[in-house]
Amino acid sequence: MTAQLDYHTIREIFRRFRAERPEPKGELEHVNAYTLLVAVALSAQATDKGVNKATRALFAIADTPQKMLALGEDGLVEHIHTIGLYRNKAKNVIRLSRILVDDFGGEVPSSRAALASLPGVGRKTANVVLNMWWRQPAMAVDTHVFRVANRTGIAPGKDVLAVERALEDNVPAEFALHAHHWLILHGRYTCTARKPACGTCVIRDLCPYEDKTA
Ligand code: SF4
Repeated sequence: MTAQLDYHTIREIFRRFRAERPEPKGELEHVNAYTLLVAVALSAQATDKGVNKATRALFAIADTPQKMLALGEDGLVEHIHTIGLYRNKAKNVIRLSRILVDDFGGEVPSSRAALASLPGVGRKTANVVLNMWWRQPAMAVDTHVFRVANRTGIAPGKDVLAVERALEDNVPAEFALHAHHWLILHGRYTCTARKPACGTCVIRDLCPYEDKTA
């Protein structure tokens, strides 16, 4: 594991990430808080592209928990059967829609505890919704964030919770809202798992990773 970087280096890294992508955005398509929640829940072990392909038609007819319940589990399965683990995900989306209607007035809650109490909604999904919809500086740690945080030493940690905590501790406040998107996009397009593109990386001179590519 790479040793943790100092404050000034971390600040400079995020300055460069911001210069590279001033307004980073998540790539999951959604039209409101509910469809964001569903899209994130469907994206576990699936690509954003694959989820978007399925949800375009789905959200055109079911963009609220009430409409999703009216569509029903079988109708939902027809839309999402191209996504991995779709049967289980369909069950969870129907169950969480029922809970949103019964216990939350049909609205998506704005606390991590309430979000994480919903079926199929883990800590990462809750953090994405808190960040993207409720504009909280929550650090959703997916496989890209975990890899980049560890390789660069921005937030080393042996598991996702340790990395999440380290990001909360280490990312300067002015970058906290967008930090997880910058890290995801950097991991998805530059600091990839097998062959990172170190030659074109904007933080190459600051990165202590020992196995950089040319
Ligand atoms: S220099 Fe290479 S390993 Fe370091 S962040 Fe950039 S792409 Fe990743």
